[in-house]
Amino acid sequence: MVPRSSPLVASRLDEFRLIRDLHRRFGRTGPAVVCGIGDDAAIIRPSPGRHLILTTDLLAEGIHFNLGTATLEDVGYKAAVANLSDIAAMGGIPHYVLVAVALPASRRPAEVEQFYQGLMGACRSHGVQLVGGDTSASLRSVFISLTMTGSVEPRRALTRNGARVGDLVYVTGTLGDSLAGLTLFATGRTPRSAGSAGRKRFLLHGDRYRRALMLRHLRPTPRIGEGRLLSTQRLATAAIDVSDGLSGDLAHVCEQSGVGAEIEASALPLSPACRAYAAAAGLDPVGIALRGGEDYELLFTVPPHKRATLERRAREAGYRFSRIGTIRPKRIGLRLKGIDGVSRRLEILSYRHFQAGQTTQREAAWSR
Ligand code: ADP
Ligand code: MG
Repeated sequence: MVPRSSPLVASRLDEFRLIRDLHRRFGRTGPAVVCGIGDDAAIIRPSPGRHLILTTDLLAEGIHFNLGTATLEDVGYKAAVANLSDIAAMGGIPHYVLVAVALPASRRPAEVEQFYQGLMGACRSHGVQLVGGDTSASLRSVFISLTMTGSVEPRRALTRNGARVGDLVYVTGTLGDSLAGLTLFATGRTPRSAGSAGRKRFLLHGDRYRRALMLRHLRPTPRIGEGRLLSTQRLATAAIDVSDGLSGDLAHVCEQSGVGAEIEASALPLSPACRAYAAAAGLDPVGIALRGGEDYELLFTVPPHKRATLERRAREAGYRFSRIGTIRPKRIGLRLKGIDGVSRRLEILSYRHFQAGQTTQREAAWSR
């Protein structure tokens, strides 16, 4: 057993000391780990009869996060959630994580500890164990790469390509909170536009709404339980996690499934805090819901005959699933039926790397 002990107190980074300390502080593992941190590689006893899920994410300072505005603890937490959410979107259970970091020598061990605190905070709540990583110096900025494993029963994985015409489109939780929270960080305490009833409502709920939105931005929830329900009960034909914004993520599902879709603006689930924020800021809440990334909700499709079972199961489990539209033939494309009842082409607003003018947008999404 590895005792929990003192924080990383050294004043300068030292590779071997860092690894030793990380092992001591965060490297506690269960019986399926034959060999964790400390050898040349980790050895895991695989779960019999299950398929292995592997996912990895690379985060670059200045592109994915900005340490002027986010703490390394925030970055660690969200890095873990991004991976956990990918496993949720496959219908799997997460198991192990490996973390590679490259740090300029000017970073302090205490900051590295903060990063692992955030990361392992999110991992531990889902039973995910740290089994290895790699540590390197870098010239100027911080790079973080996470690899997470999970597992799923054979033929139960939720993929992006199974949506069929007539399937119902659902989403978990609420949309747009993370973007609203981010904007609150970026612009100060309350939305700017003056005088409206919405602003009064937002101010009335003051701290509660503001905190709720900011928290959703900094500490999103990976929908592991929801994904498991969908996969084990065979309720969904396709699924994806909403990391880049509903419009873009829906487009991925439709493209890979060879279908179109129609979404109803009035059905998009918005939290009272997000609605009040939108009204106070003079913004269209539907736009926030469609564009907002990093909600880490699941977007999934369900055959109509499974609707009643899905909704009953969701009620029993206490999950919030909202039906937001229908899968249509490919030739229809992606359409949005507005609050006014008029159907329009759905504009896709998603982040793409290597596109001019996009770096700061993504950076903003990790800022605080
Ligand atoms: P190698 O030179 O073979 O890559 P390392 O000295 O980098 O070995 O790693 C030794 C052990 O420490 C390995 O088990 C590795 O997985 C683990 N490790 C290294 N860096 C980290 C890190 N940043 N986080 C967690 N484990 C790490
Ligand atoms: Mg190494």
